[in-house]
Amino acid sequence: MEYNIINKEKIDTILNKTKIPSAKTVLEILTKARQRNGLDLEEIGYLANLEEAELLEELFKVASEIKNEIYGERLVLFAPLYISDFCVNDCEYCNFHTRNKQLRRKRLTLKEVEEQTKFLIDIGHKRLLLESGEDLVNSDINYVVSIIDKIYSVKGEKGDIRRVNVNIAATTVDNYRRLKQARIGTYQLFQETYHHQTYEKLHCGPKADYDRQITAHDRAFEAGLDDLGIGVLFGLYDWRFEVLALVSHAQYLDEKYCVGPHTISVPRFRPAPTVTYNCKYPVSDDDFLKIIAILRLAVPYTGMILSTREGPEIRKIAFKIGISQASAFSATSVGGYGKRRSDGQFMISDERTLEEVIDSVLNDNLLPSFCTACYRRGRTGEAFMNLSKPGEIHNFCRPNGILTFVEYLEDFATDDVLEKGRKIINLYLSKIEDEDLRRQTQERMAKIKKGERDLYF
Ligand code: SAM
Ligand code: SF4
Repeated sequence: MEYNIINKEKIDTILNKTKIPSAKTVLEILTKARQRNGLDLEEIGYLANLEEAELLEELFKVASEIKNEIYGERLVLFAPLYISDFCVNDCEYCNFHTRNKQLRRKRLTLKEVEEQTKFLIDIGHKRLLLESGEDLVNSDINYVVSIIDKIYSVKGEKGDIRRVNVNIAATTVDNYRRLKQARIGTYQLFQETYHHQTYEKLHCGPKADYDRQITAHDRAFEAGLDDLGIGVLFGLYDWRFEVLALVSHAQYLDEKYCVGPHTISVPRFRPAPTVTYNCKYPVSDDDFLKIIAILRLAVPYTGMILSTREGPEIRKIAFKIGISQASAFSATSVGGYGKRRSDGQFMISDERTLEEVIDSVLNDNLLPSFCTACYRRGRTGEAFMNLSKPGEIHNFCRPNGILTFVEYLEDFATDDVLEKGRKIINLYLSKIEDEDLRRQTQERMAKIKKGERDLYF
């Protein structure tokens, strides 16, 4: 089955063939990429093997252009919520692995879910990514669904969570149906490494089944989930191979279901308390940014997610060259919000508060967005792609991004951010070309200032 999705021999052959990219070839590839129709594996191979400084600069330039044309100024913000660290797997790289006998395992009670959710609502979040270890006894699908229901039911003084994305272990079609019924946003699952041998070496337990992992998105799709996220844990194997494999997976989904992945995540291995894994393929900062730029060219319409595994400096550049969604003010331990805990899944590199992240995003002239409109209006899967490919998604995203950020400013911002935020809102409001849409956006902004909430197109 796997070979319908990833063809290892083909990827190896391409990486060999493209070892020495000529300037002419690279420039041709960059010209093609500007048309925003994506790239084939061989073209991606040439970019992955590119070392020449001037051409790399050109690559980053094209990536920024594409990011700007398709995603505009918006950066969607969210927070992870760890609900259970019970896990039956022994993944080499993760602090929740079974060999961690010191960890006092924990799963959130419904009351704790309410407290953690309120905490996140009270600082301004509207979107959560639910995370859990794999354990059919302590966090089976009934438990997970009960948590999702709880999160959606929590009403804080300043709003609620409007979209719960989910990152839980590969499971069955029936269980994915339950997630669909629970109204999740995106279902995300990372292959960790597409290199079969490495995958088997690093995993033990049910997750060690490579085929179960790589076919999970097919089962999710069969269950009606059509916003799907894929990803690689960079550092486990040669990143060049992983990038070509990731794009192969994206192309496979696109060809089979007419819907490519909604998002690609680019987690990079981080140290963690009980993890002694010797990272054999560390990805340098320069290569990491190159990965993001290449993916931006290769799959221009797929959102890209960056977490707080990365520090502020890398994040700043990554937001410019391709990232469209980022977590902010994350805790990676169960019940970690509002408490200092040292038993997280891995160490994070960006410790800033949500407001500090927003402040820096505004300094870069980006618009922080908490938008959840598309999935609530049914613009998911193919419907979303049909709008996003011709660029029509701009008509929704810019006004919706503005409206959610106006809400944030009204409810949470301190003076300095308020002033900067208003300037950014005026800047992008003036860029809504359709006069009628601009007027409608202004009317809704006025309503928000008078106390109405959750207005969107
Ligand atoms: N337990 C489920 C699974 O493994 O599929 C859900 C996801 S797990 C909570 C979230 C992700 O964290 C994993 O898929 C893995 O890529 C990432 N992760 C684990 N250990 C990590 C580490 N040391 N550094 C960075 N990311 C890590
Ligand atoms: Fe468990 Fe996921 Fe961590 Fe592996 S990565 S040990 S499956 S929580």
